[in-house]
Amino acid sequence: MNRQADVIVVGAGVAGLKAAQELAAAGRSVIVLEANERVGGRLKRVEVAGYVGDVGGQWVGAGHDVLLGEAKRFGISTYAQYESGQTILQLLGKLVRFTGAVPKMPILSLIELALLQRRWNRDMKTVPADAPWRAPRAKDWDGETLESWIVRNVRAKPAREFARIVSCGAWAAEARQVSYLWFLDALRSAGGLDYLMSVKNGALDAKFKGGMQQIPQRMADELGDCVVLAAPVEKIVQDSNGVRAITAKGEFAARFAIVAAAPGTASRVQYEPHLPAARDGLQQRMPMGAVIKMIVAYNAPFWRAAGLSGQVATDDDTLGIVMDDARDGGPAVLLCFAEGQHAIEMSALGKETRKQKVIASLVRFFGPEAAHPIGYEDNDWLTEPYTHGYVGHMPPGTMTRFGHALREPCGRIHWAGTETATEWAGYIEGGLRSGIRAAREVALRHNE
Ligand SMILES: Cc1cc2nc3c(=O)[nH]c(=O)nc-3n(C[C@H](O)[C@H](O)[C@H](O)COP(=O)(O)OP(=O)(O)OC[C@H]3O[C@@H](n4cnc5c(N)ncnc54)[C@H](O)[C@@H]3O)c2cc1C
Repeated sequence: MNRQADVIVVGAGVAGLKAAQELAAAGRSVIVLEANERVGGRLKRVEVAGYVGDVGGQWVGAGHDVLLGEAKRFGISTYAQYESGQTILQLLGKLVRFTGAVPKMPILSLIELALLQRRWNRDMKTVPADAPWRAPRAKDWDGETLESWIVRNVRAKPAREFARIVSCGAWAAEARQVSYLWFLDALRSAGGLDYLMSVKNGALDAKFKGGMQQIPQRMADELGDCVVLAAPVEKIVQDSNGVRAITAKGEFAARFAIVAAAPGTASRVQYEPHLPAARDGLQQRMPMGAVIKMIVAYNAPFWRAAGLSGQVATDDDTLGIVMDDARDGGPAVLLCFAEGQHAIEMSALGKETRKQKVIASLVRFFGPEAAHPIGYEDNDWLTEPYTHGYVGHMPPGTMTRFGHALREPCGRIHWAGTETATEWAGYIEGGLRSGIRAAREVALRHNE
């Protein structure tokens, strides 16, 4: 095991692995220190009743070119997300089925939702990608939550509830937890509301045969033994000559460090000297969303036979989103997500109780056949200290005061991770692009 290199990368998620790959290609020596006993971070493989998939990130969105390029290089192909048939929407206790993109709702709610979408699209275009805190209305928008904005601007109850689902479904954070400015920036970075909620040509366009987690695994295999697992970095010490990372596996030294973890998890590392106030403040104020992903396997996709797409959006007491993942020759799977408050409540339950609650919800949506799965697995991301949920978010007052510290290097420490991306933040694609950016920043300092 090498204990000295040009650059230490903290974290073997896609961001850290991409940064290491770029630096290695530019002739720099790298050590990647990963806390867990596996690579991939928020990407994690699962096997249930013969189904091989993911309990972490799984979809590749249209236009996610770096991710698609990586998969192509490894010979990993995609398959389209199934979306034929009716979608189920359950809001405020009322369950409806509808076809196409327009949900079945009272006309007043539909009008309000159309206006809201127009307003969000207009507002998000005024938020600069590289400096959201400089948006013309940044201070006003960062002074309130998405929830207070919804309550002030949307009157119909179903429309309000639908608007709340957007934040929970996309970032696993409730509308009352996020600043309206952060929300607009996240929406802009995620391609806008249409893209976010779309299957074909949208965020849910396709999945990889054999699962997403192959990508970080193959990247790590290429990097070889410079990737050190089970080495949580406890402390980073820097001076004018270089950095030292103190881990459970001893000490490592380099000229620069790239911390490729979400700001909230990066806050668990000690820094010597102490980080500048803005960066420290940011790390204290960027909590992760809360999510549990469940895989429920059946012998056959009985919902398809009943004319249903398998897609559900709900505000029931258990789940937020359900999606189909039935493939030829394998078990038919429903991918289920508990987000925000539901995830926090379900995290306190044992796995068996969680399973019963999830199945009860699926029976409500798809009928009695849903009561007999052949396999169940879930991943409670809230219990994973080094990765945690979907993505870090910002409560009010954070973006305008601390946002500028997201990418600003602190001496010899540079920052990567999907939260730092200016485009596709929150997605795997954002993570990969942030790794490229951080590697370039460090490469430019070759004389220091
Ligand atoms: C349930 C779920 C579903 C998702 N679905 C999708 C999807 O379908 N499509 C999509 O594009 N995105 C999805 N995402 C988001 C996507 O997974 C992330 O955006 C992406 O994986 C983030 O990569 P990253 O490298 O920035 O961070 P991470 O994956 O969090 O990597 C950070 C790494 O740093 C390590 N680490 C942290 N602290 C330390 C330390 N002190 N010392 C050493 N190592 C440390 C962690 O263990 C981790 O491996 C989903 C996420 C979740 C949780």
